[in-house]
Amino acid sequence: MTNPATPPKAEKLSAIKGMNDILPPDSARWEALEDTVRRLMRAYAYENIRTPIVEHTALFVRGLGEVTDIVEKEMYSFEDKLNGDKLTMRPENTAGVVRAAIEHSLLYNGGKRLYYMGPMFRHERPQRGRYRQFHQIGAEALGFGGPELDAEVILMAHALCQRLGITDIELQINSLGQPHERNAHRSALIAHFEAHHDVLDPEAQRRLHLNPLRLLDSKNPAMQEVIGAAPKLIEFLGEASKAHLAAVLEILDANGVAHTLNHRLVRGLDYYNLTVFEFVTTRLGSQGTVCAGGRYDYLMEQVGGKPAPAVGWAMGMERVLELIGEQALVTAPLDVYALVTDVADFPRVHQCLQQLRQCGLSVQMQAVADGALPGIKSQFKRADASGARYALIFGSDEMADRVVTVKALRDASVAQVRRPLDAVAQWAYSLQSAD
Ligand code: ATP
Ligand code: MG
Repeated sequence: MTNPATPPKAEKLSAIKGMNDILPPDSARWEALEDTVRRLMRAYAYENIRTPIVEHTALFVRGLGEVTDIVEKEMYSFEDKLNGDKLTMRPENTAGVVRAAIEHSLLYNGGKRLYYMGPMFRHERPQRGRYRQFHQIGAEALGFGGPELDAEVILMAHALCQRLGITDIELQINSLGQPHERNAHRSALIAHFEAHHDVLDPEAQRRLHLNPLRLLDSKNPAMQEVIGAAPKLIEFLGEASKAHLAAVLEILDANGVAHTLNHRLVRGLDYYNLTVFEFVTTRLGSQGTVCAGGRYDYLMEQVGGKPAPAVGWAMGMERVLELIGEQALVTAPLDVYALVTDVADFPRVHQCLQQLRQCGLSVQMQAVADGALPGIKSQFKRADASGARYALIFGSDEMADRVVTVKALRDASVAQVRRPLDAVAQWAYSLQSAD
């Protein structure tokens, strides 16, 4: 019989590899990033969209393409136990946004500019800048076919980097042309790689006829020479495709956004056409792509909607935060730390603190710890460590006189004063308007 006084020790559980807890104080940096994104999206009039984490597997297979890294090996897929539906944790969110736009006829009245932030899931080898649950900021402009929208979303991503203080980042851009142009290029690529069949690794040989464009992505050193000599897509672009790219570049130039044409930039997904781009840094090792996107005029049709052009991007939040470093996202400090010496005073202390919070101050209250309120010295230490600008002391003398002592913690020149409890709201307002 087990002794009820000593239950068996439960096994310690940990998070899944590659899926991270985001803890304070780091979570404050995430919130600051999210705040910056929301302000930026308002400035560009992009509206927020929130779609489910789980979608039908078919959406990603059809949307992203069967012969892509994501669909072939990175998706977290499972069967619904109740009805056998094949489901997938979203590895990206463009397909989900497009599905929602079709399902709810979001384009009934012309184009729609949308943005999202949230977790994505890919079964990859976890390493710096590469996780199994990671987070993306994304912008999608649906129903717009003109180059001015390609430029708008690029300007927006660029502005976000600027606002975040990320300057050592390069914008690379390319055009994938239209499907018929890609097909002509595809045939030429197959012919080229077939002529050099002996240098292709098994992966490349397997993909050669399935998706030869993907061979250009290969990092295999032995294949770089033959990749370098491969026919370039740009040589197959017609006048309209070239004019589209030129128009995008003209807008970027007019706005002082530096860019590099990279004719080998093909992106890992099937749904892109015309403009594709990446914001790349050398500071994150091989995980250097911070933001990636492009035009996807055929995705709507591919997942069952009426044809509609679209352009967008996604940015990896972990990579952005790593680039920004520790200091850059300054988060608002705590305004008040409340010191309390008698548990009997909590009703009145709470009453007072509620008023301060209504005035917009951030307030943290000393609570009972290990069965008792800590001594006043220890409370002052905690107040100091909290980073609060003011300590409010609700001691027994103060309570008897219906006042509170206000002590500035970060400015020794400000004298400590007692304020009547029914006048703390005025003090809080004066503090707010002084900021
Ligand atoms: P990579 O070449 O690094 O694998 P990708 O082409 O697979 O990137 P996209 O699908 O275009 O990436 O996603 C857009 C952005 O999301 C990337 O540029 C990156 O910042 C971020 N991202 C993608 N996969 C991960 C991951 N596993 N962990 C963290 N961030 C990621
Ligand atoms: Mg990838």
